[in-house]
Amino acid sequence: MFHRIRRRTKQPSEAQRRFAELYPHMQDQVPPGFGVPSAGQERTEPAAVVDDFLPPELRVPSHDQLDGRTMPWKQPLVLDGKMVLCAECGTYREWLILSTHDQVWLRCRAGHQQQETRLDTAWYNRNSGPADATHATFEDCLRHLGH
Ligand SMILES: [Zn+2]
Repeated sequence: MFHRIRRRTKQPSEAQRRFAELYPHMQDQVPPGFGVPSAGQERTEPAAVVDDFLPPELRVPSHDQLDGRTMPWKQPLVLDGKMVLCAECGTYREWLILSTHDQVWLRCRAGHQQQETRLDTAWYNRNSGPADATHATFEDCLRHLGH
């Protein structure tokens, strides 16, 4: 813009003069953020601020964190009169049962995981002992249970 103004003062052409007249009116029509270098930064900043603002217990756990509990389940798991089998390898015992966000997941000895929609947190709580430990990550949890 400085270049344009400097050139215009030297020798304004008809087009440049007309542009100079129109420019103040055109400013209102420029889309918000267009040509404003700081607009991008301003747009991304609020998210970061909000993230810091929330107390830790209200933050959504990141993808690799686990907000839940697990317990080993050595015996076959029978639901509706049928043994639950691993969809991948067909094993039916030595599960690790994981309860998180009101979902129950089964993990077999080979590491396959499947959600068990017939089970929920209430079932988990009835069948698990008192919580022995909570784990920040799934890997911590597996180590704790010797998997
Ligand atoms: Zn399996």
